[in-house]
Amino acid sequence: MFAIRLDNVSKRYPGHVATDGVSLDVAAGTFVVVLGPSGCGKTTLLRLIAGFERADAGRIALHGDDVTDRPPGAREIGMVFQSYALFPHLDVADNLTFGLQLRRVPRVERARRLAQTSRLLGLDQLLARRPAQLSGGQQQRVALGRAIIGGRRIILMDEPLSNLDARLRQDMRREIKALASDLGITVLYVTHDQAEALAMGDVVVVMHQGRIEQVAPPAMLYEQPASAFVARFIGTPPMNLIELATTAGGLCVAGTGQRLDLPGAAPGRLLGLRPERLRPVDQGPGLQVEVESVEYQGADSVIACRLGGQAIAARVPGRWTARAGEPLRLGWSDDAPCWFDAATGRRIASPHRSQSPELSSQPPEEQPCNVAIS
Ligand code: ATP
Repeated sequence: MFAIRLDNVSKRYPGHVATDGVSLDVAAGTFVVVLGPSGCGKTTLLRLIAGFERADAGRIALHGDDVTDRPPGAREIGMVFQSYALFPHLDVADNLTFGLQLRRVPRVERARRLAQTSRLLGLDQLLARRPAQLSGGQQQRVALGRAIIGGRRIILMDEPLSNLDARLRQDMRREIKALASDLGITVLYVTHDQAEALAMGDVVVVMHQGRIEQVAPPAMLYEQPASAFVARFIGTPPMNLIELATTAGGLCVAGTGQRLDLPGAAPGRLLGLRPERLRPVDQGPGLQVEVESVEYQGADSVIACRLGGQAIAARVPGRWTARAGEPLRLGWSDDAPCWFDAATGRRIASPHRSQSPELSSQPPEEQPCNVAIS
C-alpha cells in the first residue's frame, strides 16, 4: 500500500493551472523531494495533499484511504513551514504539545511524548523558552518536533530551511534526513534548491508548469535527465545542450562548420554533455571552442566557452589558466552524450545508456509519471 497516492490531481486558479494532472505513488518510509522553479506548483501540491486546497479533479489517497473530500484535520498529516509558524506567546513545551492538547491526549501521554521528542531533537534545555528567545535553527527544530510529536506517519515540509544560513542548512539537512529515517516516516519535502534535493531525496520529483517532468533517484535524475528542462535545471553549471544543423557538408554543430559524427547524432536533436564530462584534448574527436573566461572554484575550474553562437561550459579539476579568445579542443568519453528531441525536449534513448521506466522519448502527455517508489 502506498503512503501517498495522487491520481491525476489538478488545481486551477482563475486563468491559471497550478497543478495539471499530477499522478504520483509514494511508498511508505520514502523521503521524496519536490523540486522545481518558482511558480511550478510545488506548494500547491503540498497544500492539496494537506487538504488546505481542494482539487478540481483527481483523487488523493493516504495509506489507502481516499481523503480527497476530507478536511485537513482528518488527514493525519504533520506540516513544517518555511515560517516555522510557532505560537509566540507559548513556550517551547506548549508549542510542542499544543496539537496533543487539542486532540485531548491525556496529560501523562503528553508528558511522555514531550520528553521523547525534546530528547530526539535536543530541545531539553529550551522547553521553557518562548520562540523569540530561540535562534532560527532552534525554532525550526521546534517546528519539526511539533510535526512529529503526534506520531503522524506522513510529514509535509515546505522549504523548511530557507530562512537559515548556509552552514546551518547543511547541518539541518542531515538532521532531518536522519530523523525521518529513524522514525520510518514518509516525507514530502518541497524546495527550489537542487543541492538540497540531490542531498536529501531518496527520490526527487521535478515539476515544471504544474506537471511532473521526472521522478527518479538523485543520481538517475542527474545522469539520465528525462527532458531538456531537467537537464538544464539540475547541475551547476547545467548540462550543455548543443544545437545541430544540417548543412551541405552534413550534420554540423549549429553556427559552425564542425561536423559531428557521433552515434545518435541526427537532425532535430540536441546533444547533451555535462560540463564535467568534457575535457581539454590536444587532438582527436571533440569540438573546437573558444575560451571566454575561466572561473576558479577551488577544487576545480569552470571554463566558459563559445561554440559558434552557443555558450558551453566545461568543469576541469584544479586550476586551469587560459586567456579569453584562446582556442581549445574539448573531448569526452563515449558514454557522455545524452540526446534530446529538439522539438519536444524529451530524451532519446542513447546507444550507450540503459533506460529506466520513467525515461522515454515520449511527449510529456504520454510519459508515465506514476512511478512506484520503494
Ligand atoms: P515558489 O517556489 O515560488 O513558492 P511554487 O512552485 O510553490 O512556487 P505555487 O505556490 O504552488 O508554486 O504556485 C503555483 C502557481 O499558482 C503560481 O503561478 C501561483 O501564482 C499560483 N497560485 C498559487 N496560489 C494561488 C492563489 N491562492 N490564487 C491564485 N493563484 C495562485
